[in-house]
Amino acid sequence: MKLNDVRAKYLKFFENQDHKIIPSASLVPENDPTTLFTGSGMQPLIRYLLGQPHPMGSRLVDSQKCFRSDDIDEVGDNRHTTFFEMLGNWSLGDYFKEKQLSWVFTFLTDGIKLDPQRLYVTVFAGEEKNNIPKDMDSVKIWKELFAQKGIEAKDVEIGTEENGGKVGMQAGRIFYYGAKKNWWSRAGAPEKMPAGEPGGPDSEVFYEFTNVEHNKKFGEYCHPNCDCGRFLEIANSVFMEYRKTEQGSFEKLPQKNVDFGGGLERICAASNNNADMFLVDTLYELIKGMEELSGKKYEDLKRAFRIVADHLRGAVFMIADGVTPSNTERGYFTRRLLRRAVRYADVIGLPSGELAELAGSGVLSYGHAYPEVQQTADFIKKTISGEEEKFRKTLEKGLAQFGKIGQQKTLLSGKEAFDLYQTYGFPLEMTLELAKERGITVDEEEFRSELKKHQDMSRTASAGRFKGGLADTSYETMKLHTAHHLLLAALRQVLGVHVHQRGSNITAERLRLDFSHAEKLTPEQLKEVEDLVNEKINTNLQMIRKEMPKDEAVNLGAEMEFGVKYGDIVSVYIAQDTDGNMFSKEFCGGSHVNNTGELGRLRVVKEEAVSAGVRRIRAVLE
Ligand SMILES: [Zn+2]
Ligand SMILES: [Zn+2]
Repeated sequence: MKLNDVRAKYLKFFENQDHKIIPSASLVPENDPTTLFTGSGMQPLIRYLLGQPHPMGSRLVDSQKCFRSDDIDEVGDNRHTTFFEMLGNWSLGDYFKEKQLSWVFTFLTDGIKLDPQRLYVTVFAGEEKNNIPKDMDSVKIWKELFAQKGIEAKDVEIGTEENGGKVGMQAGRIFYYGAKKNWWSRAGAPEKMPAGEPGGPDSEVFYEFTNVEHNKKFGEYCHPNCDCGRFLEIANSVFMEYRKTEQGSFEKLPQKNVDFGGGLERICAASNNNADMFLVDTLYELIKGMEELSGKKYEDLKRAFRIVADHLRGAVFMIADGVTPSNTERGYFTRRLLRRAVRYADVIGLPSGELAELAGSGVLSYGHAYPEVQQTADFIKKTISGEEEKFRKTLEKGLAQFGKIGQQKTLLSGKEAFDLYQTYGFPLEMTLELAKERGITVDEEEFRSELKKHQDMSRTASAGRFKGGLADTSYETMKLHTAHHLLLAALRQVLGVHVHQRGSNITAERLRLDFSHAEKLTPEQLKEVEDLVNEKINTNLQMIRKEMPKDEAVNLGAEMEFGVKYGDIVSVYIAQDTDGNMFSKEFCGGSHVNNTGELGRLRVVKEEAVSAGVRRIRAVLE
């Protein structure tokens, strides 16, 4: 099946079960300094899973754009991608296991016609030491669901991946695994959870590609969690039903939630009964385009074709969300994607300068589901061709530099390699690749420590299923977030109403606000802005959160966040005095202090240009 059809069917299926369809959040997490990119469907919704009521109700469904920067180097096999979509449905204290598992099963078997004989499920094996029982509720439900399809589903103990390799399937259909595989909490396994933390068992569905032979490198026998590729996890229902007590035991939560995540591309691959994710139509279109342009065949150069297709698609979505190539933070990943794409386009033999057009054609299939991609198509193409051009120039110089080094020695020090990175913009792994091609060894460790010294990339905590992204907002971050709202309002008052937010980043130390304005601010203007914010801080404005229909918020003149799509009901933060005079109003789902009097004093640290027509202010609270 086609990707767009599977997505549409899923959303419709859950809409028919009284779910509200919510738009995908941006790839750039809103007011979350702990992680660079949105890496799962649950990430933008965590505060609702932790108890805050969602303006759209207790049954939600969406398809969330995700980007996992850690996977860049893994791309090249048949299933790793940096960008992907995660289908998600949520029950916020509404339905639970019975409905959830039955809907998932019905969607997979009747909705998109997966053969139930190819489906296998896993459940939590329980943990005696923590007094958490086996998830027998789920087992009972699964047995009934399979029975309806005429399949007798035998349940089998496996426990760990390692043991699975030893004992194999044993003609089972339902498999018990321990906390490592079938338990979810922000902190991981039950013993790692702090007191008060919610968590619970999950139940996964795997699709079996019968034409993929088990590889004994992963154990004597195959089983659902084996990494050989025969089984692919396509659906995961998390049941948040426990809370850890002060005593370290587990009690049931009063409000139980369901969090479902299913990789859209994976489900498509299953529906095609082909384990190669790159044959899913949206990626395959790009591959066909490359075949035509180069005269080469995907079959012969799979790795290179996959890297270019994945990286181009990733870059398209990044740029559409405002992440343009640069040497710092998020933009570094867009740069890496594009530069690697150029390198592998050369390996394939694509004519140079064609990537932008290819990306433009790739946009087409996503335009309907993601209008931001359609709307920014020209900008995306321009950005890609600009980056390719820039890179080709530095590549030339860098290669010459490599040539010089190669004649002199066979070992490149970390400092020299880092210089290539800094001067020629060579992404780290490309320097390694080029060195390898020329028989030069790179002091990788020194390179990495140099890189670390110069760039704090430590916030790229996106590995695995949700680390970091859930970290709750610290008080300092919250204060700076409130100051951010005041600053935007002050800029609009001092400079004019053409000023809108164009980007934002808030940490516990400082805030950064990008906004539309053509000229550099004069010292007088900066002082006026700063003074206005501090005056408002001192008048003890209240931060009031209101939920309202989107139209009403627009009529109120509330500022929208750049690149964010909103649902029908939105949350708006208003900073107003006791007489009800509003100073700032913004569409915002974040967390704020109650009263601006808590902020202290705002100081602008720096004002600079970001790009044509966009300025940036960095400010701190003292
Ligand atoms: Zn296997
Ligand atoms: Zn905000």
